[in-house]
Amino acid sequence: MLAKKKWTGSMRWRIVLIYFLLVFIALTIVSVFIVNQLEAYQLNSTRDNLTKTVNDTGMLTSFAEYDNLMEHQAEIQKSIDDGWDRSFREELSIVDKDLIVVASTIDNIIGQSAGRAGLEVGIITGALGGNKMEEKDGVITGNIPVKNLAYPIGEGDDVTGVVYIRADLDSIYDFLGQAKSIFVRAMVLALLVTVVLGFLIARSITVPINDVTEKAERMSQGDFSQEVSVKSDDEIGRLAEMFNLLREKLDFTLSEISNEKSKLETILKYMADGLIAIDLEGTIIHANPAALAMLNLRPEDVESKNYQEILGNKKNLELDTIKENCLQEGGQDIFDHGNSIFAIRYDRFKDEDDEDVGIIMIIQDITERQKLENMQTDFVANVSHELKTPLTTIKSYTETLLDGALEDAEISRNFLSIVDSEADRMNRLVKDLLQLSRIDHQQEKWHMKESNLISLLKLTVTKVEMTARQKQQHLNCLFDPESRVMVMIDKDRIEQVILNILSNSIKYTNEGGRIDIDVVEKDGLARIIVADNGIGMAESEIPRIFERFYRVDRARSRAMGGTGLGLAIAKQIVEEHGGTIEIESQEGKGTKAFISLPLAVRRGISNIE
Ligand code: ATP
Ligand code: MG
Repeated sequence: MLAKKKWTGSMRWRIVLIYFLLVFIALTIVSVFIVNQLEAYQLNSTRDNLTKTVNDTGMLTSFAEYDNLMEHQAEIQKSIDDGWDRSFREELSIVDKDLIVVASTIDNIIGQSAGRAGLEVGIITGALGGNKMEEKDGVITGNIPVKNLAYPIGEGDDVTGVVYIRADLDSIYDFLGQAKSIFVRAMVLALLVTVVLGFLIARSITVPINDVTEKAERMSQGDFSQEVSVKSDDEIGRLAEMFNLLREKLDFTLSEISNEKSKLETILKYMADGLIAIDLEGTIIHANPAALAMLNLRPEDVESKNYQEILGNKKNLELDTIKENCLQEGGQDIFDHGNSIFAIRYDRFKDEDDEDVGIIMIIQDITERQKLENMQTDFVANVSHELKTPLTTIKSYTETLLDGALEDAEISRNFLSIVDSEADRMNRLVKDLLQLSRIDHQQEKWHMKESNLISLLKLTVTKVEMTARQKQQHLNCLFDPESRVMVMIDKDRIEQVILNILSNSIKYTNEGGRIDIDVVEKDGLARIIVADNGIGMAESEIPRIFERFYRVDRARSRAMGGTGLGLAIAKQIVEEHGGTIEIESQEGKGTKAFISLPLAVRRGISNIE
């Protein structure tokens, strides 16, 4: 909520105060002016009235006939008493040249000097000097305001005295006092009305402004549902209108930004490539889940860490180097981490002012690709090599034959049988390669049938019996020859697998060795076990012997007629059947091969072979 401000600070009160002061000042000026004017008017009219009365009575002219006023005191007093109504609030006195009061409406000052009688001597002498009228306001005993007037009797050097009038201004000042108090009351009333009106006007201005302010505040807290109701057509109405427009635009822009953000977040979250964003100091500001998974890290491991710390201080990825590369078109490189190889691409990103802010790095795990590429080049090299060796042999024997050896029947026979066996070897190799390619491209046709594994094993054993016998090896069938172990297989292909395993055991077991063959059923699987006590192999070799062309002892295997494709093909075939093939071996002690195949779901025995 808005913090409560001091009331004097609020606009409403300021407007009221200004309004109040303006009206107060205006009214004060008007009142003072009017009162002053009134006062002047009243005083002037008093003077004018008196002057007129004095002239009307004809005193000035009739008294001017007397050379010495004192001598005609009685006539003068009489004419005053007759001509001047004593009920007038004005006192009238006649003063002669010697400043003695000759006659007066106030009896007790007659015969006194003007000064003693309390008259304004100044204006009397002024009038005696020939001035047409002398005037002076003053205050007499009892705090009564008065106007003193003096008119000369006679003209120029013949002025014989002065008609002196003292008018009581009390009633005028009373009137002025009342006028003032009316003004003050009117002013108080006007100011009260002003305050109320000012308050209402200020309210009509500040309420919509407060509304806008309050809504802007809520907007700043993320609530964009606020709409200011536009009530007027003035500046505040336009402010409210603009506010609403601003709110709409902001709402729209913000929701667009947040959409973009969530889109970006989703992309980052689910993208397969790793993404790491760093600032210009090299500190990680973001790493997406793929990047963390690739580098085997948890989110807290990378928080505010330097990227080099995480990647393992790679020489080729130093901050200066990558910054320099970013100046052109970004860069790319390869680095290894753990057992994996990664390709990295990076480029800088900028802020809205086109200033560099940091660097984005995209990481791809290319271990598999690299392996595949290696395998492909190896494969081509291996194939060429395997084909070239028999070809060279064939070529050299045929050349020798053509060079004359053909004459000797026995040599010819010997040589031709070598050529024949090398051709067989090439044939076998090409056949194997074709089969691998067919399996690779899913073009191999599988003739799946429910078959008895025992009969297949017996048949296969018969096929290798001769070879084993030649090496004085014992082939022991440990399984019950009468039993049935039903599996769903392509018989020819599985026979090929078993033949390869058996012939490997025969090949890599010395003369007089022993080969045990067994079948067990377990967990829905039929497991063929072929165990020999032959030369075996180091444990480290085992994962590799399923690779194409891989042979532990290349020369020995070649001499035995092997190409190194047997186990690779066997593995593919077994896996196509949903089974597995495993090898356990100990160097010099012997080897155990396990072929597991899923048992067939029994469906009666009518079509069992
Ligand atoms: P091919 O089977 O194509 O005629 P090969 O027998 O040499 O040739 P694989 O069957 O794929 O090839 O076997 C790969 C390698 O594994 C062999 O060269 C051999 O070194 C090793 N190996 C396989 N079986 C045994 C075994 N029972 N005892 C010892 N070594 C074996
Ligand atoms: Mg083999």
